[in-house]
Amino acid sequence: MSKNASEPNAPEHAMTAEKPTLMTAIKRGLNRRCPACGEGRAFKGYLKVVDACDHCHTPLGLYPCDDGPAYVTMIIVGHIVIAPLFMFDSVFMHYPFEILIPSSIAVMGALTLWLLPYIKGGFLGLVWRHGLKQR
Ligand SMILES: [Zn+2]
Repeated sequence: MSKNASEPNAPEHAMTAEKPTLMTAIKRGLNRRCPACGEGRAFKGYLKVVDACDHCHTPLGLYPCDDGPAYVTMIIVGHIVIAPLFMFDSVFMHYPFEILIPSSIAVMGALTLWLLPYIKGGFLGLVWRHGLKQR
């Protein structure tokens, strides 16, 4: 019997099995699944990471994502919404600022709220794969 079998909530429990590659862990996280097993849910609710995976008992709550997902989401949304506004002069010529600015803000808000949970999942996979736990 291994040491971790007696402690199902031990942090290294899921790591004793074959540890997935970095890309696999990130992909599982992007699907909002446990980066260790890909089966259990990684989130309860919108952005709250579960304390432990309900399938493999990996303590996902120990892996902090902090502000990383927000930065990555802002970079992606900025490139999708803001960059095209500056690239295509015709957008500025056809629409008045009174319409362009509020509609851009609405699109950025909706896109940010839609992307953030998936980006956080991917970030959780990254942090988990590198073993960066809270102290
Ligand atoms: Zn799991």
